[in-house]
Amino acid sequence: MDDLIKKTAKKLVLAKNVAALTGAGISVESNIPPFRGPGGIWEKIDPMQYAHIDAFIKDPVKVWDVLLKNMKEIIDLAKPNDAHLGLARLEKLGILKTIITQNVDQLHQKAGNTDVIEFHGNFAWQRCMKCNNRFETRKVDLTKLPPQCECGEIYRPECVFFGEMIPPDDIERSEQVALECDIMLVIGTSAVVQPAAHIPVLAKRSGATIIEINPERTPLTKNISDWIIIGQAGRIMNNIIAELEAFL
Ligand SMILES: [Zn+2]
Repeated sequence: MDDLIKKTAKKLVLAKNVAALTGAGISVESNIPPFRGPGGIWEKIDPMQYAHIDAFIKDPVKVWDVLLKNMKEIIDLAKPNDAHLGLARLEKLGILKTIITQNVDQLHQKAGNTDVIEFHGNFAWQRCMKCNNRFETRKVDLTKLPPQCECGEIYRPECVFFGEMIPPDDIERSEQVALECDIMLVIGTSAVVQPAAHIPVLAKRSGATIIEINPERTPLTKNISDWIIIGQAGRIMNNIIAELEAFL
């Protein structure tokens, strides 16, 4: 593993345009459980009943009670971990330009990254379904659900529900980032869900080196990734940054 960390650090120092694609796995060390996979939220509750836009419109209190309240409590307490902070350091050093994330927790922005494309929107803000007024999720009073705008209509979280489209502008921009980067770091995601799935494929086709940091091999590992560093993202990022700073 040490060799791969050295190799990654060297490659990053020489790169001109690095992008990162991140998913739920990067936030696990910040105590945010993933939605999909073993131990994920969708094992406990049915997303079609609690995370579909139709379910929210029909009964927002039910969706708040079962899913959103829990998410708010977890995300309110969450802090960026070493993997998020490592990516923020890479941006400060002028190496990393853009993060494409499937997460809604805004931990990349909290860590200090300034260019973050959020495929699934964010949970940090609520938006009025009528007048588009916004309200910070952490300030929502959980004793009065659902949160309501001054205009009388209800707020909805700014994240993308099942049954809703990923904003086309975000997809377009991510594709542009994939085509232009010379390295793509894929961290904490197996990238099997569209539209994230085709982003590393596009990057690879346009000549980028794909470096995966994941706890286990994924469908990308064999054909798309140039190499994978297996383990906890926080510790791996710390080691990469330490190596890389020694080169500077
Ligand atoms: Zn309103």
